[in-house]
Amino acid sequence: MEAQFQVKTDPELWAKLDMDVERFSNVPPSLTGAFTEIFLSQENRPERMAYFDDMVRNIFTGRIQEMYDARQEGRPVVGTFCVFVPEEIIDAVNGVCVGLCGGSQFSIPDAEQIIPRNICPMVKSAFGFKVGRICPFFQVVDFVYGETTCDAKKKNWELLDDYVPTYVMEIPQMKRERDKKLWIEEVQDFKVAMEEKSGKEVTETRLKASIEKLNAKRKAMQRLNDLRHHDPSPISGRDMLLIQQIAFYDIPERFTGKVHELCEELEARIKTENYVAPKGTTRLMISGTPMALPNWKVHNIIETSGAVIVNEESCIGTRYYKDTIATDGTSMDQMLERLTERYMKIDCSCFTPNDDRIDQVLKEYRESGAHGLVDCCLQFCHTYNSEAVKLRRACEKEGIPFLSIETDYSPEDVGQLQTRIEAFVEQIED
Ligand code: SF4
Ligand code: SF4
Repeated sequence: MEAQFQVKTDPELWAKLDMDVERFSNVPPSLTGAFTEIFLSQENRPERMAYFDDMVRNIFTGRIQEMYDARQEGRPVVGTFCVFVPEEIIDAVNGVCVGLCGGSQFSIPDAEQIIPRNICPMVKSAFGFKVGRICPFFQVVDFVYGETTCDAKKKNWELLDDYVPTYVMEIPQMKRERDKKLWIEEVQDFKVAMEEKSGKEVTETRLKASIEKLNAKRKAMQRLNDLRHHDPSPISGRDMLLIQQIAFYDIPERFTGKVHELCEELEARIKTENYVAPKGTTRLMISGTPMALPNWKVHNIIETSGAVIVNEESCIGTRYYKDTIATDGTSMDQMLERLTERYMKIDCSCFTPNDDRIDQVLKEYRESGAHGLVDCCLQFCHTYNSEAVKLRRACEKEGIPFLSIETDYSPEDVGQLQTRIEAFVEQIED
């Protein structure tokens, strides 16, 4: 266990970003405590997790400084909340894309003073971070790009716009030809908007390079996820979740390189039979709503209940990297078409019907060698919570042990979740 871990602070930088420095000063010590307890207490972690631990150490300082510097150089720093916003296009104008989904209870009271209490905690957490000026990522972005996926997001962009310039992409809700056409037009408009914001043209050469860069990042994640499927697991679910969360704020090329280095270590660990959980440990797969930083609640409960998590079917998980963009397009029109084809494969529950997702969950379940599925939905996420009904039916049909959880970011239900998860693990082991 690493005794010296500390999330770094930089009040001068935070002041430059117009943050509520005094209030935010409580956050690094609390993140240090949670990270130490949940991650550094694990035994036999891969050594190359050191890079990702460093990313947490520098989450409010070094990485923010890099984004601040990018902004000073005139590069657009764009905040997003959904894997539908095409980061290849942001990259093609030399912009920085950062995921701003909120995963913390800390900012929710700020949001609840303005927006309704009974909406998804992810939306409230993100909104509260901005209105309270208590998130350096939110403060460093030039503007944000929302989307019309769920009602909670769609309506709150109108309110968020009072605090930060907020633009919205229309995401279709079905996948018919006419919906695909709408999506191509949205992507074309997004390209024009990014060109205007950056003063840089998205040329074919630049877009091709960005597609290849992001494809490489997604392929690195596929390689890592394939390795973690090994039975016994060479890496914990907690560490995998952390890496998948960091994917949304690190520099793509650097992140890809570090993921490959970790993969090499995991390959060596598999060869020498050096695992994080002994053979016979119950393996669980997670599906459902994304778990944004620092939401580690369910992973921590599961892995301290004697099971290991072997897959996350989520946008902070496989939904982000399972598909890459075909690279056979040469003209701008072809490249944008290939790009939109890849994005339309995202099986978010905002689509109807969305049976591809059920098939995808079952496919990942088989590939990961899981013994049971835990479907985790955030409270008030109507689309994922409703889709859990179909998922349960599909699992029952296949004889897959299934547990459905609806939770938020508060610690109040931890005891109850622990009891349910322990019972589920016992039921699988019997
Ligand atoms: S779950 Fe849906 S709305 Fe949320 S990030 Fe994924 S695609 Fe976007
Ligand atoms: S988890 Fe559900 S309700 Fe929350 S932002 Fe995502 S799609 Fe919307």
